[in-house]
Amino acid sequence: MIVCIEGVDGSGKSTQAELLATRFRSEGKNVLLLSYPDYESDTGKKIKEYLHGTEPVEVKSLFKMYLDDIVKDEDKIKEADKKGIVILSRYYTSTIAYQCAQGYNYSEAKRKVLNSGLPVPDMMVYLGVSAQESMYRKMKGGFVLDRHERNVFLIEDVLKVYRREMEEEFPGNKKWIAINGSRGIEEIQKQIWEEVSKVAAKSESKAAGKKLRT
Ligand code: ADP
Repeated sequence: MIVCIEGVDGSGKSTQAELLATRFRSEGKNVLLLSYPDYESDTGKKIKEYLHGTEPVEVKSLFKMYLDDIVKDEDKIKEADKKGIVILSRYYTSTIAYQCAQGYNYSEAKRKVLNSGLPVPDMMVYLGVSAQESMYRKMKGGFVLDRHERNVFLIEDVLKVYRREMEEEFPGNKKWIAINGSRGIEEIQKQIWEEVSKVAAKSESKAAGKKLRT
């Protein structure tokens, strides 16, 4: 099963993804946790340079860079999905949100993502926080804010694109679960676990049914 945790910077994705991974592991499940951008990869290093630089970069190249950073893990994600749970902190839905908020064509972005061969998650967990909360948390955490994180207007626009993706149910029917991310960490985790474990149980019984038939 693939679960994707989405939301703007500081919405709590890493925190919640780690907690979810720990919970699944404590139940004996195989878990692959991936976070994007993947700053260890060559593409991720280029993304980091861009985020901490000031040079303008064409949005089309940015979109490609962010999507390539995910596409390189396609096989890894598909394999891990067969063996257990894949938790993704950001995915192509982030690429769409951030690049379309900066002017990239939305339909084109969706088309490129659908043609990428990347698997569609079983579930999208969206952590909703305001642009102000996003910035406040990053500053409070003592992080050096990158060019996305310090731009409140960009974050507002990113929030709008996320809303559009959710309203259109992209990338699939009834996959999004919107969670109020401005509550306490434990409370949020409890709700995520309730929702995700239901889908996990369903996906396990589906897999068991397949095995019986083969
Ligand atoms: P993201 O991965 O979405 O950027 P993080 O999980 O890294 O967000 O969290 C960003 C900062 O906000 C961290 O300092 C983290 O401890 C804090 N944080 C995460 N969730 C909450 C929450 N529900 N309430 C308050 N602070 C939070």
